[in-house]
Amino acid sequence: MDTDYTIGIIICICIVLYISIYVAYNSNHSISNYINSDTQWIRTQLDEQARSNQKCTVKRRESDIMKDVHIEIVDDSCEDGLPHTSNGNTIRMTESVWKNPGKDSTLVHERIHISQRRNPEKWTSFYKKYWNYDLPTSPPTSTPAYLIARQRGNPDTADTPWVCWNKRYWFFPLYTSLENPSIRNTETYVWDSFTGQVSEEPPKEWKSQFCTSSGECPVQWEHPHELSAEYITHSLASPAAFTLQKYIEI
Ligand SMILES: [Zn+2]
Repeated sequence: MDTDYTIGIIICICIVLYISIYVAYNSNHSISNYINSDTQWIRTQLDEQARSNQKCTVKRRESDIMKDVHIEIVDDSCEDGLPHTSNGNTIRMTESVWKNPGKDSTLVHERIHISQRRNPEKWTSFYKKYWNYDLPTSPPTSTPAYLIARQRGNPDTADTPWVCWNKRYWFFPLYTSLENPSIRNTETYVWDSFTGQVSEEPPKEWKSQFCTSSGECPVQWEHPHELSAEYITHSLASPAAFTLQKYIEI
């Protein structure tokens, strides 16, 4: 009887210990740590770290041909010098990008992001209907937490950071280095929510729609906002690019 009692106590202690460890682990790794129901995206520690030495002081403003849009010329360190939008009226870039001969294509790309910010429903319904993309307000609870913790935030996709293609594949642009995260040093990974596999390559079915017949694929393939900006700026001859040209009005 005494032995049964002792075994019972030991089992109880083990159960309590297991529950404590499980709760402690999940409170640190739960995806809810990275998602805010209002803003969707909370900058992760890596996002903070990657931007810790950046300054985005506005040096001057230039006007743009797009209605009610202005261009802010900002510090070289702002978003590591990458042009971006900060709201539906503002494109930001550095002096060197402004003076670069490629500035016009950069502006075309950023104006697409302005359009996406101004008319999110139009773009979201196009993605859903013709590209089979969903932009859910949160990823599934089964998403490996490291994919969320390592994801690089992007001002141009911050309103819809979660991307699912074909109701199955989730795309995550991840910081390559955990010690020295850099906005320019990232790699896109695809999580297959059916099999649980994570890959650096997009699925074959995706490639046949978004790449050309000769195998040329978009560079920024992590988000349909970036795909569409790239297609319109550099006219890649993929089936998805043709659909975009046919059905979207900017
Ligand atoms: Zn972009």
